[in-house]
Amino acid sequence: MTAGNIDGRRIAAELRARVALEVARVQHESKLTPGLAVVLVGDDPASQVYVRSKHKQTQEAGMASFEHVLPADVAQSDLLALIARLNRDPLVHGILVQLPLPKSLHTETVINAIDPAKDVDGLHPNNAGRLAGGYAALSPCTPLGCIILTKSVHPSLEGMNAIVIGRSNLVGRPLLQLLLNENATVTIAHSRSRGLAQLCARADLVYAAVGRAEMVRGDWIKPGATVIDVGINRFTGADGKTKLVGDVAFAEVSQVAGAITPVPGGVGQMTVACLLVNTLRAACAIHGLPKPGV
Ligand code: NAP
Repeated sequence: MTAGNIDGRRIAAELRARVALEVARVQHESKLTPGLAVVLVGDDPASQVYVRSKHKQTQEAGMASFEHVLPADVAQSDLLALIARLNRDPLVHGILVQLPLPKSLHTETVINAIDPAKDVDGLHPNNAGRLAGGYAALSPCTPLGCIILTKSVHPSLEGMNAIVIGRSNLVGRPLLQLLLNENATVTIAHSRSRGLAQLCARADLVYAAVGRAEMVRGDWIKPGATVIDVGINRFTGADGKTKLVGDVAFAEVSQVAGAITPVPGGVGQMTVACLLVNTLRAACAIHGLPKPGV
């Protein structure tokens, strides 16, 4: 058996197109243009690529995009002052501070300074707590994308056995909550978990968010399971070229799984598309408009 690839590029493009339609409708009916502000501190090349891609896709969706680039040695008080200004700015409905921040800055303090209503990364404790409590919340974008990709294969996740490998605030923990909201039965594993292969073997849905190249092997997977690979690991091949590989040994696992996301071309594509969804939702909520149709 060879697994079907879940085409993150196509699904993300469809989602962005639906967001653009809803943005046009909101603009027409309510004269509201959702706005996203992205704050980049320092000159990390990977972060610069992500920020450029967010800027381009925000504009293509018909939203306003505001970019703020600060030097790596910016004082924390200056960064907090910028966030306070963006919190007050009526043209800004979503604020994203690109992570990781330079070590001189305290990430938790910076995230906590963002108005929870504009926290489109879903990392503010108010949103994380609301999500954990089962209340409506702005949820982190990568886990949202994982759920959409899974539902492209299984429209209902009710009663399915899921395993999430990784318990970060960015991916694993919010993904656990989103899966519970979908009525899946969820196991969450981490670096201290025992018998990971046996835990995976029971799962209909496997999510790998670890950051270890090709850790999940073919003989861990229940035949027919759906495998969502969040990992992005840079790997230099024998030819000296840098390649991206996931946390899942794709060649092996795709022989056993029913469906699998490739890296690249899977989850990564969904993260920015879901950021656009969150910005549109935040704009509508701030203006007391009904929840948009995406
Ligand atoms: P992270 O904060 O480093 O968390 C990694 C998690 O994996 C931790 O919970 C850790 O356990 C667990 N872990 C480490 N070694 C393990 C092992 N041997 N067995 C089981 N669990 C283990 O990473 P993250 O931010 O969640 O990101 C995870 C991966 O996803 C990275 O490759 C990252 O680049 C990628 N990512 C991709 C996107 C995207 O858009 N596609 C977005 C975000 C992240 P402990 O908690 O016990 O330390």
